[in-house]
Amino acid sequence: MPTVKTRIAPSPTGDPHVGTAYIALFNRCFAQQHGGKFLLRIEDTDQQRSTSKSEQEILDALAWLGLSWDEGVGVGGDHGPYRQSERADIYRDHIEILLEKGSAFPCFCSAQRLDEVRHAQMAAKQTPGYDGHCLSLDHAERQRKIQSGEPYVIRMVVPDQGECHFTDLLRGEVTIQWAQVDMQVLMKSDGLPTYHFANVVDDHLMGITHVIRGEEWINSVPKHVLLYEYFGWDTPVFCHMPLLRNPDKSKLSKRKNPTSINYYRDMGYLPEAVVNYLGLMGWSMPGGEEKFSLTDMSSAFDILRVSLGGPIFDVEKLDWLNGRYLREELSDEEFASRYLQWANKGNRLGRIVPLVQPRVEKFSDVIGLGAQFLDGLVAIDAARFEHKNLSAEQSIKILQFSLWRLEGLQVWSREQIEETLLDLAERMDLKIRDFLFPVFIGISGSAVSTSVMDSLSILGLDLSRARLRHAITVLGGVSKKLSKSLEKEYQALGNRTAD
Ligand code: GLU
Repeated sequence: MPTVKTRIAPSPTGDPHVGTAYIALFNRCFAQQHGGKFLLRIEDTDQQRSTSKSEQEILDALAWLGLSWDEGVGVGGDHGPYRQSERADIYRDHIEILLEKGSAFPCFCSAQRLDEVRHAQMAAKQTPGYDGHCLSLDHAERQRKIQSGEPYVIRMVVPDQGECHFTDLLRGEVTIQWAQVDMQVLMKSDGLPTYHFANVVDDHLMGITHVIRGEEWINSVPKHVLLYEYFGWDTPVFCHMPLLRNPDKSKLSKRKNPTSINYYRDMGYLPEAVVNYLGLMGWSMPGGEEKFSLTDMSSAFDILRVSLGGPIFDVEKLDWLNGRYLREELSDEEFASRYLQWANKGNRLGRIVPLVQPRVEKFSDVIGLGAQFLDGLVAIDAARFEHKNLSAEQSIKILQFSLWRLEGLQVWSREQIEETLLDLAERMDLKIRDFLFPVFIGISGSAVSTSVMDSLSILGLDLSRARLRHAITVLGGVSKKLSKSLEKEYQALGNRTAD
């Protein structure tokens, strides 16, 4: 038996997600329990959506939680590079192997043709998928098209009949009809691989023995199994973990629950409590204890104790657990020093001084003015938003649009925040003063306070987002229907970067 090796393979396309930490935790525990290794690879083949900011935030968030890895980005190892964007040659060599074997083929179909095929299939109530058109081209025809510079992708050959059987560690044997499996694009016309191809090649070359990942990937396994077979490689063991859910059982989403690890860090949760809480997602200690350390979890770990019922990520339960850590695990000195460490993250206290100092007459005024920077959600009610020029609906719109704008910022700086919000006010045809009023209340809780731009910049995106959302809720919230119409209106406004 080769040494156990597991991995986490995040795509750096957004905030560091609690789901990534959850999967990383189980992979790490599994590897440790087997005396194996845990690897981190960055899957950044989607060049449009991947950013180095997101990559850094994911690495920082996992490090904050103490979920360190033995091999991979930032650590090194014998199987690098560990960023897929730096492995293009490897994928090109491997696609050649499949082309030569006839297990993959170039496809020249235009987007328009694929659309037409899809529509016809849907009208005929068939599973939409590639119809195999370019499979029938002979070698000479393919060469002619390639030489004449026609753009093409590479697809994998997939049987159109029969069943794919594979074993999932938690589910036992799984059967999927090949007819349900699309002839997946393996390489895009720009010569870069898709997730499925790069993922399989890397898992093999990096010696991954156990693929433990979210349930959303289970339907992709047939494609992966087939690729292993085409290459003549052993398949790893597959294990699909149940997805985290909102308390209403829907898939965990940031509309209903904060999903960014940064939010939990900035709200003042302890990393050890967050990790402990993630360990309770679908898993339990043999003795049923609810409070346990990462070391306890690793030594008592058994993946077969994962239960498939969707684990609920419930912030109230996390609050309860975090409270226990704060009360039971920290001495007075530790509490004080960890609190100060949190309060002064990124020199926050230093940044607050120039905002507070010009507005106070005595030290006892400081806490009142500075409290908003060290608070979680601010205490507000709908009455606070009353304004002679703005209805509640308009305030909701301003808050929602501001939120979308701020979420799109690549750099979280006072200048960028100010520019984007002033631009939005202009596009909404509102006076700056009126526009800023609900944002002010939502962020600071009061209209007499330090500049809202400074508040936003010091609070950071995650707390700002939570407060703006809270303000929207206080004002009555946004239904799905309203959200759709707001989205349309928002799109129509355009934005600076797109202009
Ligand atoms: N890049 C994929 C993701 O972020 C990895 C999925 C997998 O583990 O295979 O979800």
